[in-house]
Amino acid sequence: FCDLSGRIAIVTGGASGIGRAIAFKLASLGATVVLGDVKLEELKNVANEIAQQTSSKVVPLYVNVGDFNSAKEFYQKATEILGIDYVDILVNNAGINRDALFVKMTFEQWDEVMKVDLYSMFNMTKQVVDGMIRRNYGRIINMSSMSWLGNIGQANYSAAKAGVIGFTKTLARELAKYNITVNAITPGFIDTPMTRAVPEKVRQKIIERIPMGRVGSPEEVANLIAFLSSEEASYITGEVIGVTGGLVL
Ligand code: NAD
Repeated sequence: FCDLSGRIAIVTGGASGIGRAIAFKLASLGATVVLGDVKLEELKNVANEIAQQTSSKVVPLYVNVGDFNSAKEFYQKATEILGIDYVDILVNNAGINRDALFVKMTFEQWDEVMKVDLYSMFNMTKQVVDGMIRRNYGRIINMSSMSWLGNIGQANYSAAKAGVIGFTKTLARELAKYNITVNAITPGFIDTPMTRAVPEKVRQKIIERIPMGRVGSPEEVANLIAFLSSEEASYITGEVIGVTGGLVL
């Protein structure tokens, strides 16, 4: 079940948190994983750890997903290194938050989040789509967030993550005839460096609102992504799936 042997996957934001857990999971299921991140040193460490614990090949490469040319160079390098002209799986995971109440939010905070969390979807997916169409196979998984429903202090992030859902649903319809599935994930409150930056008082308040009474682990998100990446998820497309411990915003 969920055997990914022979599959080639790209995971962005692989140096930390959820992306790191996704990379571990896909590699442990047999996929060759190309890891992209702006933090190249951390990324190399993650790749080494995975190589030690699995028998899969892991390629760490710099990418700024918010920049189209960087995404293009990343894909060119990855395919050159692996001697291929396609990937089977793309996990658009890299993301940032720059929280502020709208009255205080700067254009830079808006712009940065739009680039990394939303433009990245276009920048990365554009690279892989032709190869997937040619091979009549593909799995694209886009990282949204429960915050897409609206969350105080996150006008930029909520807008970008809602955009991810519109993008996902449209692509799912356009690419279904090529046997490419496109789905979005909406994690709730997951224990990563992103959420560890939340002040302890606020963190406790959020946990109180989670029916399961605890934060989620990156591995619990990675498990869903592994399933959506597999042959077994062949008839699931255009979906938005939560990993939230029951949290409703
Ligand atoms: P994280 O900060 O631990 O990891 C994000 C990674 O993305 C980092 O390694 C960072 O260097 C990388 N990154 C940032 N900007 C980049 C860029 N321009 N190009 C390439 N890589 C870049 O965060 P995380 O919690 O693991 O989040 C992963 C994804 O999950 C994000 O899209 C985030 O919005 C989403 N998410 C997280 C939570 C949560 O509770 N942690 C909840 C909902 C959604």
